[in-house]
Amino acid sequence: MSASSKASSSQRGGLSSTHLVAIALGSNLGDRDAHIDFAVSRLSALLTSLRASSRYDTAPVEVDDEQPRYLNAAVVGHALLAPHDLLRALQDIEADRGRERPYPNAPRTLDLDLILYGNQIIDDGALSVPHARFRQRLFVLQPLAEIAPDLIDPITGLTLRALLDRLESQPPLDP
Ligand code: ADP
Ligand code: MG
Repeated sequence: MSASSKASSSQRGGLSSTHLVAIALGSNLGDRDAHIDFAVSRLSALLTSLRASSRYDTAPVEVDDEQPRYLNAAVVGHALLAPHDLLRALQDIEADRGRERPYPNAPRTLDLDLILYGNQIIDDGALSVPHARFRQRLFVLQPLAEIAPDLIDPITGLTLRALLDRLESQPPLDP
């Protein structure tokens, strides 16, 4: 394929198939609000019609050590980047905020997780969308259901609002 036909096919792809994506944001190290502000600003260049949730101060979960509280938020918008390119762009934003990974689930300046990418289902080692654990995470579902309650999880067929209701009505695993 020539360079020019490559360019035109990727332009066609971009114009004809934007996908509504959902991204979860989290921070529990340093100036949490500033990290989230930075991320929303950078994401507004990657997503059109971006909508951002309010921010939720949450207790750390799924961690084995003592950690500061998190600030969580979510955004939705239409992505022109393909899924893996979008993931790389999210990782660049994290890196620009000094994100380090000393051990799994370590405290972080900024974490950006791709939760939904339209109705696409991808699980190839580098990327899992829908995100593997988002249905069990109040800190993801609360901000997302605030801004996009009718968005549908292609795996369960449930809306974000229904997933949140389901999670909130479950007894805690560890009372
Ligand atoms: P976590 O968010 O689980 O605390 P990281 O942010 O360090 O941990 O991500 C670990 C890996 O998860 C990354 O290397 C990335 O390739 C992978 N990953 C797979 N699916 C996703 C997704 N949907 N969103 C973000 N990262 C993902
Ligand atoms: Mg992450």
